[in-house]
Amino acid sequence: MFKFLSQLLDLIYKKRCYCCKSTKENSYLCSKCYKSIKQLPHNSLEVINGAKVYSAAVYKNNVQKIIRGLKYHKQRELAVYLAKFMYEYWQKLEISKQQFVIVPVPISKKRMKERHYNHMSLVAKEFAKLTGYEINENLIIRVKDTKPQYKLNKTERAKNLKGAFEALKENFENLSEENFLIFDDILTTGSTVAEITKIFHKNGADKLTAFTTCCSEYNLNG
Ligand SMILES: [Zn+2]
Repeated sequence: MFKFLSQLLDLIYKKRCYCCKSTKENSYLCSKCYKSIKQLPHNSLEVINGAKVYSAAVYKNNVQKIIRGLKYHKQRELAVYLAKFMYEYWQKLEISKQQFVIVPVPISKKRMKERHYNHMSLVAKEFAKLTGYEINENLIIRVKDTKPQYKLNKTERAKNLKGAFEALKENFENLSEENFLIFDDILTTGSTVAEITKIFHKNGADKLTAFTTCCSEYNLNG
C-alpha cells in the first residue's frame, strides 16, 4: 500500500523528463536524454551577409522534440536545457571570449498572443545568465506574420520573409560598435538570418554573428 501511494505521489509531483518520461531524476530533461544531443563541429557553417553562422546541433531526435515542446506545447522550463547546451558549444569557440549583445529573432504580435512568449527570448535569457552578455529586444520587430517555413523551398522562404522584420531605428543609435549575436532556433535556408542581417547593415551595425540551436541536415551536406 505504501509503495503504491508513494508511486502515485511521484507520478503527481515529480518532474518528468520531457523526452523519455522518466521521473528518476526529478527533472524536465534527464541527463541521459540531454547527453544524447550531439554537438556539431566548432566552426561556422556559412557566412550570410557578412555574419558567420554557427549551429550547436542537428535538428532531429531529442533536440527536435525539445524545441517543439518549448515552441508549441508551452514547455517553458525546457529553455534552460537548450541554453545550457548552446553555452557548452559556444564556450569552445574562440569568438566566445568577445562580448556580445544577443538579439533573439522576434515573433509577430499574433504569435505572441497565441504563445504568450517568444521561445528564443526564454533561451536567450538563460544563455545570457551563463555568458554574461546583454540582450536587446528593442531593435527589430516582426511586422509580418509568415507562413510556416518548413513547407517552402528556398526561393519561397526568402519571398515569405521579405519585409517580415522592421527596425526600430531610434534604438540603433550609438550601437554601431557592438557585436551582435542573432539568436534563433533552427537554421534551414538561412532566410531569417539574411533578412535580419540586412536590417542591421541598413542601420549601421555591421559586426554580426548568428547562432542557432540547430540546423537541418541539409546545411551540413550542402
Ligand atoms: Zn530522459
